[in-house]
Amino acid sequence: MVSNKTGDILSYGFNCSLPNHDRTSIHSEENAWYEFKRLWKNRQISEKKLRSGVTMINLALTPSHTIRMSKPCKKCSNFITKNANVIREVHWSDADGQMRSRKTSEGFSDATLSSGDKNKHLKKAKKKKNNKNM
Ligand SMILES: [Zn+2]
Repeated sequence: MVSNKTGDILSYGFNCSLPNHDRTSIHSEENAWYEFKRLWKNRQISEKKLRSGVTMINLALTPSHTIRMSKPCKKCSNFITKNANVIREVHWSDADGQMRSRKTSEGFSDATLSSGDKNKHLKKAKKKKNNKNM
């Protein structure tokens, strides 16, 4: 998590899950956010650093240290968009090794997913909606 105002790194998060995102594990995005919130609550982050919100930078490496896709999963996208007032922008690495970024306010559901992933995500989103209506 990086301050948009000062460029300071405010918190880090890691996870060691394999490319198949394990939904039960805590992802690096969540780790970084929890750590950020803890510091914020304890007033260890100055208001000045938060004045322009923060940027979440997410990078994923394979065991052989090549860059892989690190776009936030559905679950992480949800909490990131919920906190869009603080997390203004998200950067992630793509399968081609390039960094992508997006304003949180624009959402993530359609960005840089393969058609297969897209269908899977849409199905999941629909399921969640239905559950809410029950
Ligand atoms: Zn995630």
